[in-house]
Amino acid sequence: MLGRIFFRNGKIGIIRRVRRRVRRVRRQSAASKLEYAAQCEAARALVTERLAHFAAEYARLDPALVEPMTYRRIAIRNQRSRWGSCSSKKNLNFNYRIVKLSPELRDYIVVHELCHLKELHHGRAFWDLMKRTIPNAGDLHHQARTMRIS
Ligand SMILES: [Zn+2]
Repeated sequence: MLGRIFFRNGKIGIIRRVRRRVRRVRRQSAASKLEYAAQCEAARALVTERLAHFAAEYARLDPALVEPMTYRRIAIRNQRSRWGSCSSKKNLNFNYRIVKLSPELRDYIVVHELCHLKELHHGRAFWDLMKRTIPNAGDLHHQARTMRIS
């Protein structure tokens, strides 16, 4: 859908970004479309497996986390601006380029969004939850933020 607009950091941005993506997809050759589809499929398999792994880990640490850390669905997207996101409706989005990252960074991104299911902010409770399975989350956060998405 092109119609979704949200207001963030004082700017309305989503419509322009979506249109640019549509143009980019149209320019792709049949071969690169296939490659993109394969990467999306690989990203979905990877993210699903790592989410299950870490959800089990959190459940082992605290069974009360099972319910709040349950997601509704996963979407794999082609985005230039972010590696992942989590909506208040408990839907998770991941950038298909996650497959190109190191296993450590992939896990950081997966656990970051998994923890947002419970804590939908970047406050102390969020970081404490993340660091229960990723003790160096702070360093990895910095790495992921300073990396160009391309
Ligand atoms: Zn976040």
